[in-house]
Amino acid sequence: MDTLSHALWGGVAFGRKSRKSFLLASTFGLAPDILSFGILFASNLLGFTERVSFENGPPDPSLIPQYVDFLYNITHSLIIFFVVFGIVWFFLKKPLWEMGAWFFHIALDIFTHSFEFFPTPFLWPLFDYKFNGVSWGTPWVFFPNVALLFIFYLYFFVYKKKKT
Ligand SMILES: [Zn+2]
Repeated sequence: MDTLSHALWGGVAFGRKSRKSFLLASTFGLAPDILSFGILFASNLLGFTERVSFENGPPDPSLIPQYVDFLYNITHSLIIFFVVFGIVWFFLKKPLWEMGAWFFHIALDIFTHSFEFFPTPFLWPLFDYKFNGVSWGTPWVFFPNVALLFIFYLYFFVYKKKKT
């Protein structure tokens, strides 16, 4: 899914308790892409590396530097997620539910990335299995996603707010 949708899904699914919780959950929703492709974009913008263009759809994966692959594996693995979630739980002595937005990010990506561009390495580093989903850029994925987000935000942040 696109990065903005991930943030919005994270917020509405795991951050409805308070403003702080919302910010935290949307950050966890954003983080997997910011910590992989975000770094590539930043270094492109700052002119550190040769620019990889995304303007005409996903670029040839061979143009993407290897460190992005590596970071993508880490941030898009459910195994890594569960390990980090467990460590945080251990230190806080309670689960940090906003981290669910990270889990949800990976879950959404599994189905909305095809083999063509960065299928989700959700079992990394144990297994190489990846699912051939439908790209989130496909209209019948993209528009229902926007519509669903709209409905959820309207329901939880407008309709429910009014009632309380
Ligand atoms: Zn992602």
